Amino acid sequence: MTGDSKEKQNAEQVEKTRQPILKTLRVENLNDLVRKGLDLGYRVFAPVKDDRLVTFEQISSPEEAFLDGITSRTSPKSVLFPRTERIFSYKIRKDEIVVEDNADISQPTMIFGCRPCDAASFPIMDRLFQWDYQDRFWIERRKGMVIIAVSCLDCDDACFCTSVGLAPDSTEGSDILLTLVSRDQYLAEVMTEKGEDFAEKTGLFDEAGADLDKETATKAVREKLGKKFDLDKIKPWLDENYEHEFWAEVTRMCIGCGICTYVCPTCHCFDLVDEAHYDGGAKIKNWDACQFAAFTVHASGHNPRPDQISRHRQRIMHKYKYYPDNLGAVLCTGCGRCVRHCPMEVNLIRILKGISDMEKAGVGEE
Ligand code: SF4
Ligand code: SF4
Repeated sequence: MTGDSKEKQNAEQVEKTRQPILKTLRVENLNDLVRKGLDLGYRVFAPVKDDRLVTFEQISSPEEAFLDGITSRTSPKSVLFPRTERIFSYKIRKDEIVVEDNADISQPTMIFGCRPCDAASFPIMDRLFQWDYQDRFWIERRKGMVIIAVSCLDCDDACFCTSVGLAPDSTEGSDILLTLVSRDQYLAEVMTEKGEDFAEKTGLFDEAGADLDKETATKAVREKLGKKFDLDKIKPWLDENYEHEFWAEVTRMCIGCGICTYVCPTCHCFDLVDEAHYDGGAKIKNWDACQFAAFTVHASGHNPRPDQISRHRQRIMHKYKYYPDNLGAVLCTGCGRCVRHCPMEVNLIRILKGISDMEKAGVGEE
């Protein structure tokens, strides 16, 4: 198979979105949906609440899932792209080297209860992991993954999905999107063959009547979200203003901790390290972040991004200029995590609004 046709086949296998099939799911059957997933052999991941935090974790019973609140602190990207992962290891024997493939990428996986902004992150990152290199870890896991997302009925000041072309009930990336349309019923939009296959296997979904309408259910949260900046104005300004005093202004408070990148559902930088022992070793993949000073240090000691201003600019350029230039999508779903969790209150919404206002006013490079 040629590189092109292989890429095409992978893209088709990962993204088979089409017109939704409308079904319903009774609220009382929600736990059974998770149970069925577990019975069918899926590893199930869902938001889980401990005393302080809601994080995305593997669960073994539906009672562990926590669907209230806004987005979880961590995103589900770690299900496909773990924070640290052994790619392979090797043992040195007397007269041979034995290589073991360590990563388990074959088990079917269900992501349950993520928000539409997180579901949307997966097709955005599919573009990268199938671009100049076919990342088998991402591609294989993605093929065996079913995503059942739940529409948002509330938001906070950090949410801005509607400003980047998404919505609290976007179906982008979901195999099935559930929207609570009455006290006892979800509207289920079945978006892919994978979703349809899963829904059939569970036997829990009914045909939807024509009277069901998710717009009414999500109207209040849409209004609360509004539009926080004009997306069309961002890239034209970035195209022209690599050098601008604005970058220093908006980086003043940034301490380069990298939290914004670790909580982000679309940040995907990683580093490969070799761990060697006297009789073997391993190749390990670890998350990395453009906000760390050592991220771009060359072996010579030269650092092309020597200060936090250039590193912070890189993050915004990557999401709103380079990724759209190279892969045709904004690398941000407006989930708001970076705004919510930055310890220094660096606020991406304010930055993007500032850029959008400057572009409208024609402020830029001479
Ligand atoms: S923007 Fe905030 S979260 Fe991101 S590196 Fe800077 S201080 Fe840390
Ligand atoms: S950049 Fe911020 S708002 Fe955008 S997807 Fe990442 S964490 Fe969410």
